[in-house]
Formats: sequence, C-alpha cells, structure tokens
Amino acid sequence: MKGFSLRTKQRVEMVDITDQVQQIVAESGVKSGVCFVFVPHTTAAITINEGADRSVRMDILERLSNIVPANANYHHLEGNADAHIKASLIGSSVAVPIENAKLALGTWQRIFFCEFDGPRAREVFVQIVEARS
Ligand code: ZN
Repeated sequence: MKGFSLRTKQRVEMVDITDQVQQIVAESGVKSGVCFVFVPHTTAAITINEGADRSVRMDILERLSNIVPANANYHHLEGNADAHIKASLIGSSVAVPIENAKLALGTWQRIFFCEFDGPRAREVFVQIVEARS
C-alpha cells in the first residue's frame, strides 16, 4: 500500500488530492485496474466532486454545516461531534477505475480530502489493484 501525508490549514476544508493520487497510479505502472483511496481518520473523509468551480466546495461545506451544526446537544464530549457525523455522512473512501495508467475521472471530477476537524497532520492511504488481463 502507498499513501501520503498532508497538513490541513483550516478547521473545515476540502483539499484537492487528485494530483498526488494520480502520481501514485503512474508510479505503480498499472495500466488497468482500480485505485482505492482511504482516510484512516474519524473526523475526515474522501469524496469526488467538481473541482473547476470553487463555489461547489463552498456549497457542500456550508450545507453540511447547516445539517450538522458545530454545537448541539451532542453526547461526545471531545467537542468535535459535528466532525465525526460529517465524516460518516461523506464516507472514508472512494474507488476510481484506472484506464491507460490514469484515473478514469470525468472531465469535472476531482478527488477531495475533506477536513472536518483541522488544522491537523493527516494521512491518505492508496491501494492499487491491477485488473486481470
Ligand atoms: Zn471526537
């Protein structure tokens, strides 16, 4: 398994990690298969969405914060219950097909690391599975 570290800069943000993931795909030499991207954290997540228009990220994060407010009658006493809930809503992994040694993403799709309780040092794991020919 491969991976990389990143340092988030805000409590809540979406960081485009497509280039780092594509780099690992390229280095693997795999032409066709599946790239599995996973975050080993309980207050962060991974998603795929539009990267061209930054306002899409703003809308996702703002709407998530409306659905899951920072302060409510939470039982978890660490002060980051909202981050745990957002992480479960978005999910901890994505799988992307690999074709011609590249991530087979749509034109507007990018892979985002979603920080919900930063800023922190974070890890992303990348597992590449080669298709049988
Ligand atoms: Zn917590």
